[in-house]
Amino acid sequence: MADEHPERPTRELIRLGLRGQCPRCAYGRIFAAYLTLADACPNCGLKLTGSDVGDGPVVPAMLLIGGLIVGMAAVMELTWQLPLWLHAMLWLPLAIFLVALILPPIKGLTVALQHRYRSTEEDTRPGGQ
Ligand SMILES: [Zn+2]
Repeated sequence: MADEHPERPTRELIRLGLRGQCPRCAYGRIFAAYLTLADACPNCGLKLTGSDVGDGPVVPAMLLIGGLIVGMAAVMELTWQLPLWLHAMLWLPLAIFLVALILPPIKGLTVALQHRYRSTEEDTRPGGQ
């Protein structure tokens, strides 16, 4: 009998995680809401309650977005010497928007990697065992 949920290559696992799809069956959505994980995959039943990613997705988002914003603000300041209120008007909404955009894919990736490396508290295993 063929394995119903074979262990996926890392590249595919990363793609599934970034899209918020189940790392086991590749069909179910792992998010019940914006950043809220579903209790289980609606397609294959993979338990997601043990996936506790904590602050894992926040750190790369802060580093990526923070570096980008600080770099762009520095270039604009050195080029045009913008007033501080204009910097605040530009960078604060952009930072909030970019963080909101990037957090779900990074959280999905973290959940997928937890599934692969068995760091969840549940009994999920790569290959669906
Ligand atoms: Zn699934």
